[in-house]
Amino acid sequence: MIITEQKELEEIVRSLRGRRRVFLIGCGVCAATWGTGGEKEAAGMEARLKEAGIDCAGWIVTEEATCDARTTRRVIRRNREAIASSDALLVLSCGAGVQTVAALADLPVYPALNTLFLARIQNLSVSDERCRLCGACILAETAAICPVTLCPKGLANGPCGGYEDGMCEVDRERDCAWVAIYERMEALGQRGQFTVIREPKDWREDLHPGFVNKRAQKASV
Ligand code: SF4
Ligand code: SF4
Repeated sequence: MIITEQKELEEIVRSLRGRRRVFLIGCGVCAATWGTGGEKEAAGMEARLKEAGIDCAGWIVTEEATCDARTTRRVIRRNREAIASSDALLVLSCGAGVQTVAALADLPVYPALNTLFLARIQNLSVSDERCRLCGACILAETAAICPVTLCPKGLANGPCGGYEDGMCEVDRERDCAWVAIYERMEALGQRGQFTVIREPKDWREDLHPGFVNKRAQKASV
């Protein structure tokens, strides 16, 4: 899941400079689950904007993810009258959702959230980053624990010389990712894999912006 947080109202109002009436679009998947862009948050944002002197023409939360252009296009179409009476859209989703709306709407579009990371949800208050979307997953070699994300140095072979009592030298409050990998391999009876030297990561596989066209890929096979 993509983890987001709401921006301070002051920042949102500042970015809306001079806009008098906005329409809000929330995301029914990640932001709704994480409590930053669902129905409750959209209604709350509407009330806070009104207090700040900005009128709202209404709000909608996309049933699917806002970053899915297929369904967001329909949502915009269904709400075209309210949107036409607005002079901006404020989107409560990750940055991908905001940009999806921007590509579909001919009004100025603004983000209400900060996009933080791709995470495992432990419960509805606690989530932790588990994947940096590096483009070439090495979890098969690391007992399904990601050193690219969990080791601050992103080491492909660890631990470095700085770990102490299982904790990371960069942050003594955090477990060393490579100690965790060792312990899991040992628990799974795979300790022999630990000493295999892994190739350095090829960061050319982490090129941004990413782009995929599955149809073109099939055609070239
Ligand atoms: S190795 Fe790369 S793709 Fe796999 S979990 Fe880590 S960051 Fe994500
Ligand atoms: S102590 Fe462990 S997690 Fe921290 S930088 Fe070194 S290898 Fe990476």
